[in-house]
Amino acid sequence: AREIHLKSRPDGLPSLDNFEVVSRTLPEPAPGQILVRTTWMSVDPYMRGRMRDRPSYIAPFQLGQALEGAAVGVVERSADERFKPGDLVSHFSGWRDYTIVDASAVSKIDAAAAPEPAWLGPLGVPGFTAYVGLGRIGELKAGETIFISAGAGAVGSMTVQIAKAKGARVIASAGGEAKAAWVRDELGADVVINYKTADDLAAALAKAAPEGIDVYFDNVGGEHLDAALANAKDHARFVICGMIAGYNDEGVADAARNLARIIINRLSLRGYIVLDHYDLLPEFTAEMTGWIADGRIKWRDTVVEGLDNAPKAFLGLFSGDNIGKMLVKIDG
Ligand code: NDP
Repeated sequence: AREIHLKSRPDGLPSLDNFEVVSRTLPEPAPGQILVRTTWMSVDPYMRGRMRDRPSYIAPFQLGQALEGAAVGVVERSADERFKPGDLVSHFSGWRDYTIVDASAVSKIDAAAAPEPAWLGPLGVPGFTAYVGLGRIGELKAGETIFISAGAGAVGSMTVQIAKAKGARVIASAGGEAKAAWVRDELGADVVINYKTADDLAAALAKAAPEGIDVYFDNVGGEHLDAALANAKDHARFVICGMIAGYNDEGVADAARNLARIIINRLSLRGYIVLDHYDLLPEFTAEMTGWIADGRIKWRDTVVEGLDNAPKAFLGLFSGDNIGKMLVKIDG
């Protein structure tokens, strides 16, 4: 089997030198385990946090060991009665072509409901994160105005569409015209701000939402958060999902200018980790499967071919190389 290891801990923006490809021979699966051939794996911004050796909500990656993350694949051999060769599964041992996993940590996926990679996008963590953030965390209501940063990303593109389905007025940001056009023309956002060409993001948001925003869904932090603070209505709710603009730095202090607006406008900022909300997963899967069947939810994947290119795919998240979900296709 081949796997990608963390060779050294990145300082600032990671580089390809921080990763290495390692081959090893796998044993037979022990009772309760299965051997999976991974076909698709996810790279995600939060993985940058796991490359730091410090306590967090999830353990740091260890040097000289395989990275891990969400993936889907096919069962090749099974020593567990719940699985048989040929079953399609999702698991958390990405970054390798073949892997042995505990059967209890694996779920079967229904390829009839959506193609395999969709279980890492709309039906996977990104879709679920959008669903939890707008529902349980942000409590978005029809008629409200929401601003969504990184609207063309995996989470953002789902957030835009679910917010529209809930009857909100949606303003999104995206880096570049092609992304902006997709989010506006295909996903249905009312206004999309290309933040790369906007001179003043706060002013662009003020123009798009002259009366202010009721909800901000943050994927970015930094200047985006600052612009949202500057345009918040009284009692606005901030769903703090991610702050990718700061993931390669130690802090995200550059957003501090408008923090006093939290008091002035009596804002609520609420961070969340989607892992804490798995009680909503069955409800989410049923709803999302229905929306996909109706054609109500659209998605795009940016596909990087080959396990060896997984580090490149990961790095691309920080330069906005992806429209929709960034995925790696693995040919075993
Ligand atoms: P995306 O698919 O959105 O990929 C990252 C995108 O972020 C890029 O395409 C780029 O889009 C944008 N970006 C990167 N660097 C910057 C920057 N410096 N400033 C502004 N935009 C930047 O990733 P995901 O959808 O997987 O994740 C989105 C966010 O959600 C992340 O912050 C992630 O950590 C968070 N998250 C949180 C979870 C939780 O439980 N709280 C669960 C899952 C994700 P563009 O070209 O538009 O700039």
